[in-house]
Amino acid sequence: MLQFISICSGSSGNCYYLLQDGYGLLIDLGIGIRKFKQHFSNYGLPLAQIQAILVTHDHTDHVKGVPVLARDFRLPVYTSELVHASMMRNHYLSKKVPLNQQHNFERGDGPLQLGPFEISSFAVPHDSADNNGYVVRTEENCIVVMTDIGHFTPEMEAVVGDATHLIIESNYDEEMLAHSRYPLYLQRRISGDRGHISNRETGDFLARHLNRDRIRQVWLCHLSAENNQPAKALATVSEALTAAGYTIGVPGGLKVDPLPRHTPTLLQTL
Ligand SMILES: [Zn+2]
Ligand SMILES: [Zn+2]
Repeated sequence: MLQFISICSGSSGNCYYLLQDGYGLLIDLGIGIRKFKQHFSNYGLPLAQIQAILVTHDHTDHVKGVPVLARDFRLPVYTSELVHASMMRNHYLSKKVPLNQQHNFERGDGPLQLGPFEISSFAVPHDSADNNGYVVRTEENCIVVMTDIGHFTPEMEAVVGDATHLIIESNYDEEMLAHSRYPLYLQRRISGDRGHISNRETGDFLARHLNRDRIRQVWLCHLSAENNQPAKALATVSEALTAAGYTIGVPGGLKVDPLPRHTPTLLQTL
């Protein structure tokens, strides 16, 4: 039985958790350790079940709590060498992941087996030292995680077709960003090739590249607080998918849900 919970999602912190056969895999931990532990205990999740941490990239909203949890529970941390190196230089991280717990996992490496999870990675363009998307397979499911997406690549098009469950960024509403009080340089950074992806872009991408015989659930992640609203993200993406012939939100149809920024979702059995 595979279970999933999103602890938080967005520029104030990202953290997702997969649990199968008592093996817990954390993907990013971008909030303070106290808040993280509080969420975990509120949901009755034992910290001792966490066996490993997988990191997408080195921005603080993805790694803030990683070194402390890794040290406290002697957890291995898997990500690319570039991300490890940048975390070591990150001044916002007062503690560092001990060297013997840093495991390099590069794109093109063979699949990484962690407990019941078989993992491979792919490149996601972004303005960090490096950014990894992950494909996490179990016997029955294929969970794909792609966040902080500057733009979509042919490799990402291919990867998404395998997903039964997809966590994908839907960062901003194009109108809201254009009319926001963000200065122009920041608007350009966000919408640029190495920034973030809009609701419309994500909707179009999904409508074209999901495999309708496989996909069961899409979670929209990393929604902007300033330039997006969960209802807008959901409406824009749903509209694109509905136009492509998907039925959404009905029994047997595709499930699409925006992930909350600060509050955990329920622990869901996939
Ligand atoms: Zn981020
Ligand atoms: Zn980022």
